[in-house]
Amino acid sequence: MIYLDYSATTPVGFEVLDTYNKTSKDFFGNPNSLHSLGVKTKNLMNSATKQIAEIFNIMESEIIYTCGATEANNIALIGAALFYHNKGKHIITSKLEHPSVYAICDYLESLGFEISYVNNDKEGLVDFEDLKNLIRPDTILVSICAVNSEVGIRQPLKMIRQIIKKENNDTILHSDMTQAVGKVSVNFHDVDMATFTGHKIYGPKGIGVLYKSNSVNLKPILYGSGKTNMLNPGTPAVPLIVALSKAVRLSTTDIEKRERFIERLNNRLVDALSKYEGVLINKTKYSIPHILNISLRNIKSETFLHALEEYEVYVSSNTACSSGNLSLSVLAIYDDRVRASSTIRISLSHLTTTDEVNKFIEYFDIIYKKLSGLHR
Ligand code: PLP
Repeated sequence: MIYLDYSATTPVGFEVLDTYNKTSKDFFGNPNSLHSLGVKTKNLMNSATKQIAEIFNIMESEIIYTCGATEANNIALIGAALFYHNKGKHIITSKLEHPSVYAICDYLESLGFEISYVNNDKEGLVDFEDLKNLIRPDTILVSICAVNSEVGIRQPLKMIRQIIKKENNDTILHSDMTQAVGKVSVNFHDVDMATFTGHKIYGPKGIGVLYKSNSVNLKPILYGSGKTNMLNPGTPAVPLIVALSKAVRLSTTDIEKRERFIERLNNRLVDALSKYEGVLINKTKYSIPHILNISLRNIKSETFLHALEEYEVYVSSNTACSSGNLSLSVLAIYDDRVRASSTIRISLSHLTTTDEVNKFIEYFDIIYKKLSGLHR
């Protein structure tokens, strides 16, 4: 098997799984219980939270566990909109967000909020001038992803923050950092809220994080019991939390060395794939090397994906992460509907080997020749 879909999800790390199993077995008490079994579990959970907080240089009280990035985005964006609605009803987001952010914005629009979509330039970066002009006294929230999930564009969040705060110091900046954490270095202090998920960083599925600066207030969207997490009540998933802390530590260690290695694999792929007349490389100088997006002329991406599957090669097509048949991110950058209609995302990891990349190139060639021949 050649797995090249690490941006969709990652296999859980062996050590991470081991931590999950041991915690499930030895710390099964409910951390909300007052007896010693509960206290023992709560202490372990707190030390996992402390570790995550130290890695990201934030406070433990600023970490809210969720079941993934989608839930974290919901709690963050809906919670902020509902808490600050008296200050204004204007929200800004980009044209390069994950569908979960768009779905939440659509919902907020149905509640009477006004959503603006900031333009981006040809390299995929948020257009600073447009952003500046969009900020108004009633702009309560801006949501810009740190790394786009389809083309891998990395946004300069520090700069974006400066622009926003200069125009309106009260506007909250949220960033979906799901495709950034564990791949490139991130600074949570560039934003007021950030979200990420365990299953993209070799952690278990079913656990995510919302970082919320203590200066931000949210109206809860979930209600229940349990004092440990007021924004996401109920019994905390301690084995998932402890396993997540391990995944965070492992994935943020050696991050630059891994990035350089992945960059070499990415360059090798670009060299090989750009030779085909019917292949367009959707990559700008701000794309992180972990994601390589291509467009196929005259071949449906889904057909290509399934042909690769015959060789046990796994990648994503635009249907997995976009609306309808169009890749919204490719459309936002290249303004070309044909180019956006048949895209493939190849996503790499430090676990990817040169041999796998070479084999992928070999299979790609066979399939490409076969499928493009059909259209002659
Ligand atoms: N945000 C981004 C940028 C993503 O890439 C994804 C997953 O593809 C999500 C959010 C959703 O994450 P989850 O599956 O944990 O809800």
